[in-house]
Amino acid sequence: MKYVYLFGCNKTDGNASLRNLLGGKGANLAEMARMGIPVPPGFTISTEVCDIYNSSDKSYPAEVKSQVEMALAAVEEAVNAKFGNEQNPLLVSVRSGARISMPGMMDTILNLGLNDATVRGLAKQTGDGRFAYRSYQGLIKMYGNVALGIDRPILDEIVNRKKQEKGITLDTELTAEDLKEITDGLEAKIREVASSEFPQDIKQQLWQAISAVFESWNTPRAVDYRNINKIPHDWGTAVNVQAMVFGNMGDDSGTGVIFSRNPATGEEGLFGEFLLNAQGEDIVAGIRTPQDIGALARALPQCYRELNDISRKLEQHFKDMQDTEFTIQKGKLWILQTRTGKRTAQAAIKIAIDMTRERLIEKTQALQRIEPTQIEQVLHATVDPNADKEVIAKGLAASPGTASGKILFDPDEAVELAKGNGDFILVRDETSADDIRGINAARGILTTRGGVTSHAAVVARGMGKCAIVGCKDILINREKEEFTADNRIFAKGDIITLDGSTGEVFIGEVPTIPPRVSDELKELIVWEDSTKSLRVMANADSAADAKLARSFGAEGIGLCRTEHMFFEISRIDHFRRAILAEGKEEKRAALAELLPLQKADFIGILREMEGLPVTIRLLDPPLHEFLPPHYDKQQLRSLAERLGMPFEKLEEKVLQLREFNPMLGHRGCRLGITSPELYEMQVRAIMEATYELIAQGTDALPSIMLPLIADVEELKLLKELVVNTCEQVRKEKQAAEVIPPLGIMIEVPRAALIAAELAKLVDFFSFGTNDLTQMTFGISRDDGRTFVPLYLEKGIFENDPFASLDKTGVGELIKLAFERGKKANPQLKVGICGEHGGDPESIKFFHQLGLDSVSCSPYRVPVARLAASQTALEIRV
Ligand code: PEP
Ligand code: MG
Repeated sequence: MKYVYLFGCNKTDGNASLRNLLGGKGANLAEMARMGIPVPPGFTISTEVCDIYNSSDKSYPAEVKSQVEMALAAVEEAVNAKFGNEQNPLLVSVRSGARISMPGMMDTILNLGLNDATVRGLAKQTGDGRFAYRSYQGLIKMYGNVALGIDRPILDEIVNRKKQEKGITLDTELTAEDLKEITDGLEAKIREVASSEFPQDIKQQLWQAISAVFESWNTPRAVDYRNINKIPHDWGTAVNVQAMVFGNMGDDSGTGVIFSRNPATGEEGLFGEFLLNAQGEDIVAGIRTPQDIGALARALPQCYRELNDISRKLEQHFKDMQDTEFTIQKGKLWILQTRTGKRTAQAAIKIAIDMTRERLIEKTQALQRIEPTQIEQVLHATVDPNADKEVIAKGLAASPGTASGKILFDPDEAVELAKGNGDFILVRDETSADDIRGINAARGILTTRGGVTSHAAVVARGMGKCAIVGCKDILINREKEEFTADNRIFAKGDIITLDGSTGEVFIGEVPTIPPRVSDELKELIVWEDSTKSLRVMANADSAADAKLARSFGAEGIGLCRTEHMFFEISRIDHFRRAILAEGKEEKRAALAELLPLQKADFIGILREMEGLPVTIRLLDPPLHEFLPPHYDKQQLRSLAERLGMPFEKLEEKVLQLREFNPMLGHRGCRLGITSPELYEMQVRAIMEATYELIAQGTDALPSIMLPLIADVEELKLLKELVVNTCEQVRKEKQAAEVIPPLGIMIEVPRAALIAAELAKLVDFFSFGTNDLTQMTFGISRDDGRTFVPLYLEKGIFENDPFASLDKTGVGELIKLAFERGKKANPQLKVGICGEHGGDPESIKFFHQLGLDSVSCSPYRVPVARLAASQTALEIRV
């Protein structure tokens, strides 16, 4: 069995296609070596070994040991140095590298191969004792922390004490002798804390580091990350062992990170940053704020040119935007790794479209390059330029969008508070892999240190969170839980607003304006139309929402919930009068007041959606939702006064309408049975609006939908009501007949079971998957939140069934109803209008079933469109 793969030595074993085996880092290092790009020689131990190691008693097959020995010899030959040799020591780095880049895993260990003897050799060889002992000190600290699990501050303390003793503040002021004493101190500390030695045996160093990488696959942070991102736990990580190159050998050395295009905006051209005379981890950790990569053109022009060429070459080769790490050692450029760059949705769309124009990729590939769940982020609201606002600080714009919330400093607290839906901004000096869950929970991230490629920036962009980094105007006092900016103090809990597109931090909550659709998104919409087969509609119940949804590419309205129209202050009392009316006449009179208002709503919506279908659902929620609660005497009294009704009578009526279980009570089409006048008024309003619009030359296309149907007789009665009312309006209008399609929501399991009978009576079905999930599981959609999280934690549920469709249960009912319905009425159109209509995973299922449409909230429309398109492409392949 082959477990170890060489790269950049006398031969290169791997290539980019071996990603699963070598991890992303290892596979790309091999590929780069094959392309003739200067990568320091090294080898990769495959992901299979991770699995063997972790599932056995943490031991290695004999072949692994011997293959590593052989690989090490090949590296020694390539760089002409020997591991452990006291005159000419080979030093290596040890890094983890899974199939996809994954924060939360073991940090890199650099300078491995140094011990008390080889460090002297290195000092002699380089003629730089300071450099040698600084490298050694770095190794012991990293090793102590990463491989032996000693807290970093305990080790940093040794360095700090030395600096205090000497009255200095900067590491650079430490002499070789100081550093030597520090290394002795660190070794002693390790002995004391870990009750083990920092190994002088370099082979032991190497194997312990390799094992630490494999073990880090199962640290809680890594497991958390895999859980959040649904990454299988059996993939394992590879280990990359690579000859060291040094960016801290003077001002002709340095290290940095580049992106082949701007990962925040997608703009073309080299983007990134670097630090002169620094070691790799300095950039990612965000301790020193790096310089813009443009400055490298002045500092080391030859290296800049070469870097620019390599970046372009890598992008052309991998056909995607690259995130590349480099080190310059005494004027010689080395590439340490390259990978597909994380980007914001805005950048993802721009890059996909630009690369198609550049003929680097096909349109179909471009469509697959964008994450559906990410796409909602391009629809960022932006800070209102006309709003009153006060800037308190400005940092680097790392990830666009805006976020308002309470200041919070502790990422663990963020996780706790997020459970209560708290909106907050995580404020830190810098972030590390430990903070992932806190970043995930926060609305936005603000750091005082680090550049646009720092951990905080990269992670926030990946998660689509608004972030500002390197904000030096802010000084954090962790103990007091406050920061100072603009000569003022801002405490935990104070509200601030971030603008991730400009880097500005504002005091308080700043008003925002709705998003605009970019030209790139418009182009994407056209591409999607030519690939997807599912029609994507919107759930919208106002003209403004309809307009927004249409601009996002909605192909109609799949659900217009009419109840929202009654909640407006100017209308609710009219509606209450109708609910509380004594006899039919009184009820009709009250409803007559509502008719013109409701009609005006429909005119607005139908006009906005001209030429596209608008599915209007008749009233659904239980009536008491429109009345004050029975215990709120004050509200009841003032309502009684406004309606000119005795208080006692109102109270009695409200008590009568009270239900123990309203979700299963007097709601949905049952209201149409008990109060036909109500549904008649709604149908009349729809039809009067339609005839008026048609008379004006507007192509109005309404459909009428009945909620919560459970019985054929129920449907027959209500169908008659709809048909008769339509006919009546037509007669009054004396116009050419308009027959709106009639449909029902399938949201009660019984309706799914009797779909064949129901289908014969209607033109369409729309699955109300919110109620259907609620009623199939018997879990209230409102109360489930108290225990569903625990079900997820315990693995009882893989996903929240209210967010992603339960295919085995609810999905089976949909399938059955679809098949029975279609068989009984082949013309039947079938769609979805629950929340699942905007969930990519569920969309895949609906597409596979062969449904006609999905409908979701306006902001989910672009997500659903892209998911529908990708699913269609996937199936075609
Ligand atoms: C549903 O139940 O899925 C649905 C769309 O209706 P509502 O959410 O209004 O109950
Ligand atoms: Mg419903």
